[in-house]
Amino acid sequence: MTDEVVKLVVVGSIGIDTIETPFAKREDVLGGSASYACAAAALFTPTGMVGVVGDDFPPAYEKAYDDFGIDLTGLQKQAGKTFRWSGVYSQNMDERETLSTELNVFADFSPDLPSAYRTAPFLFLANIDPVLQHHVLDQMDAPAFVAMDTMDLWINIRKEDLIQVIGRVDLLTVNESEARLLTGEHFLPVAAEKLLELGPKYVLIKKGEHGSMLFSHETTFALPAFPLGRVEDPTGAGDAFAGGFIGALAASGEVSGDGLRNAMVQGSVVASFAVEAFSLDRLTQLTPAEVRERAAAYREIVRIP
Ligand code: AMP
Repeated sequence: MTDEVVKLVVVGSIGIDTIETPFAKREDVLGGSASYACAAAALFTPTGMVGVVGDDFPPAYEKAYDDFGIDLTGLQKQAGKTFRWSGVYSQNMDERETLSTELNVFADFSPDLPSAYRTAPFLFLANIDPVLQHHVLDQMDAPAFVAMDTMDLWINIRKEDLIQVIGRVDLLTVNESEARLLTGEHFLPVAAEKLLELGPKYVLIKKGEHGSMLFSHETTFALPAFPLGRVEDPTGAGDAFAGGFIGALAASGEVSGDGLRNAMVQGSVVASFAVEAFSLDRLTQLTPAEVRERAAAYREIVRIP
């Protein structure tokens, strides 16, 4: 665990996942939005995790968090079962069907932030019930920059709460189908404009293997994804992207212009590593030097004279 002062707080789901792709199936692997986001962010900045696990949570998974250097003061353990999720990917892995979601200990989780987290300058509300996102935001003193993610489930069953949280953050990140579902608009610049009207200064739309786009009222920035020859498991790509993005922002402290563009590069690069293996397996092996090397190759790929 890191001894440094936590600069970025991440709240999100901590899950035990069962994932099936056209090529393989893995049962009971470590997952959850907070797991991917913290593992990615901790490559760049001291990161604290807020979440809950049950008494069935394998010690090896907690050790994996520790090995990433994630601060676990905000990780609660409760009697009962850990959150579980299972999903199956389509033949070309661009679509996914959720087979089951068991909230378990997340059903009545009420995060209580350690005092050292409340003064952190950066907060990432990863995908989780928007009511919990509100609750965490309420406990922060005055974060300099707050980003949030969500998913179709919350858009469908908690839209009002979700819209309220969106109104309180600096940056909203969603994937393209979520952007369309939230706004009813097909074209992403139009959807982004509607999302900006809800309050955030920035909207970051992830498009999977087709890259990502960052919108503000003033500017648009678009990046292709890092071209990969092999994807083993797309789960958590969006969370790893967001974690790398906000981790890099927290590390540089530059939350506008080039700082945001650089954060997009780092998020894309970390996400490209995350999908090379199931669960957090590739991130576990990942070194900052590998991130730097791929980021340099990526900048060359997207260079425009
Ligand atoms: P992503 O591929 O970025 O959508 O993230 C996948 C992760 O989200 C998996 O590891 C799941 O454990 C987690 N997840 C699935 N459903 C939910 C949910 N309703 N709330 C929070 N996290 C979820």
